[in-house]
Amino acid sequence: MQQEKLFFQAETKQLLDLMINSVYSNRDIFLRELISNASDALDKRRLEIASSPELGEGLSDPRIRVSRGESEGRKSLGVSDNGIGMNRDELKSYIGTIARSGAKEYLAALKQKGEAMQAEALIGQFGVGFYSAFMVADRVDVLTRRLGEDEAWLFSSAGDGAYTIEPAERSDPGTTVLLHLKTPDVSRGDKDYSEEWTIREIIKKYSDFITYPVMMEISRKKDGKEELSDERLNSGKAIWRRPEKDVSDEEYAEFYKHSSHDWNDPLTRLVFSVEGGTEFKGLLFIPSKAPFDLMFAPRREGVSLYIRNVFIMNDCKELIPSWLRFLRGVVDSEDLPLNISREILQEDPLLRIIRKSVTRRVLNALKKMLHDDREKYDRFWREFGQVVKEGLVSLDGREEENRDAILDICLFHTTSEEKQIALKEYVDAMPEGQEHIYYLTGRNLSVLRGSPLLERCAEAGYSVLLMADPVDEVAAPGFSEYSGKPFRSLEREDALPKKGDAAQSAVSEGVLALFKEVLGESVKDVRISERLTASPACLVSPDEGGSFAMEQLLRSMGQEVPPVKRVLEINPRHQVIRALEYRLSKGEGKETLGEYVFLIHDQCLLAEGGRIEEPALFARRVTEILAKSLKGNDETVER
Ligand code: ADP
Repeated sequence: MQQEKLFFQAETKQLLDLMINSVYSNRDIFLRELISNASDALDKRRLEIASSPELGEGLSDPRIRVSRGESEGRKSLGVSDNGIGMNRDELKSYIGTIARSGAKEYLAALKQKGEAMQAEALIGQFGVGFYSAFMVADRVDVLTRRLGEDEAWLFSSAGDGAYTIEPAERSDPGTTVLLHLKTPDVSRGDKDYSEEWTIREIIKKYSDFITYPVMMEISRKKDGKEELSDERLNSGKAIWRRPEKDVSDEEYAEFYKHSSHDWNDPLTRLVFSVEGGTEFKGLLFIPSKAPFDLMFAPRREGVSLYIRNVFIMNDCKELIPSWLRFLRGVVDSEDLPLNISREILQEDPLLRIIRKSVTRRVLNALKKMLHDDREKYDRFWREFGQVVKEGLVSLDGREEENRDAILDICLFHTTSEEKQIALKEYVDAMPEGQEHIYYLTGRNLSVLRGSPLLERCAEAGYSVLLMADPVDEVAAPGFSEYSGKPFRSLEREDALPKKGDAAQSAVSEGVLALFKEVLGESVKDVRISERLTASPACLVSPDEGGSFAMEQLLRSMGQEVPPVKRVLEINPRHQVIRALEYRLSKGEGKETLGEYVFLIHDQCLLAEGGRIEEPALFARRVTEILAKSLKGNDETVER
């Protein structure tokens, strides 16, 4: 096969340009990325040999080697591993394309905003560490041979949109990435990445915990003679096995960045060592920012499983419930068998115990953060609150046991405060006489804040929880009580106790009959409202049946659901209703007053952010009324 010339995917090219041209980037990280890839490749080699031992015959011990040299008159730097390697197709799909879903849209948005992004941010968002090599090299060669295959391949690119692949020779499986280094611009503060101490420093800083040895050949003058020796540049200590007091914040942060591909420091970490019974160690991180695809993309990094310090897998889903999927880091078990397979994991009782214990620890840590560092907790909640709340609706019942603990750490918007508050704070602030925790769900906060359903609570001095996340709609009906106080949706007719005032008699049966006659089948019933003060009417759900917002939500997800018919409540004290009553008493009827009834009904829908059946008709009715009332005031309309 001859040399083949190929082109990077458009998005890849765009990313590459962004990265190469970003002046803010910390270039040192290219080495971290290449070593990280080499280490991943060695993990994969070990796993593959575990299932097909014959592949391991004759292989040398796993190691990563950094080498310095010159090629074509320029300095070069090589990072070589004897890991899994890549075949031709893998080279093309792993190096030439970006696998992340949503990358295209995200890049387009970035372009529109004209935002400059640091290389680290790009790597974090798109998982494209390899490309960072082009920040320091004007050509990158990859010589690679897949474990179990005889052919080797040479990839070469100047990072300009195209690359070549051709057959090559390599004596053993693995990958060598060779960077033809750009000449450092000293005036810009560029480093010489072929320099021994620069390399040492970077590896110590970013890759010390890599478990495989990172070797480099060092030459030293001894007695006037040059001596060559192989030196190991990393300590290889598993950071989660070291006592927390011996590890610096920087070391933790670097490990986090390596294992999560995030470029920000983590928000917080959780270190634990569990003994007695099942033994395991854990080092978990909560990121400071949610990745852009947290809500819709499959997880990539997650929490890795190690068994007795040996890497088993990334993103072990059985370790962590899905509502904690933002966690990163490692859990290292002492008891699980090394040859455990993904299939067995699901059923493994030991793993279930670990999961339960890890979940409890995380919940406790979050609760502690809520009490001890509210500002930090607020940041956490802004990023991941929506995901945590999914734990309240787990369908398989597995999370039932955590429901109360999750409720403890949930924050809610309310009608009484700017900031979000915890349920305990809500309950503690409940005035004398308030028996329930009132809440209202809907599509967005500003609509909720304007809802007429809040009026009676406002009058009574009761605060109301406002829930506008999509998950709330599904979760809230499952809330029964907190701290002995039952939850109550304001959408329900019986949300508030009856006032028992003279409202009923204040409006004549005639008004009710008029509304019922005009609205007919479009409402379930028309009643006198106990809850309104400033609005003429509102729509509420009957006691039985689902919530209106839930119906809307299901519909927006494309599901067919029967419409929930609701009850229209009218406010007998409101001047609009009184005026209708007056006109009725003067002998007018459905013919002249019907239009008003329709308008009152439709504006209830609008007020809660819902859609009205016939917007054009609504607009025409409003226009007619405007014309009538304006004409009354201004004779010029006649002309
Ligand atoms: P990431 O490591 O975040 O997936 P990269 O752009 O660094 O992104 O690498 C893309 C893919 O290329 C890797 O996922 C891996 O499959 C492959 N790859 C990179 N370096 C190596 C290597 N040294 N050995 C084998 N495969 C590699």
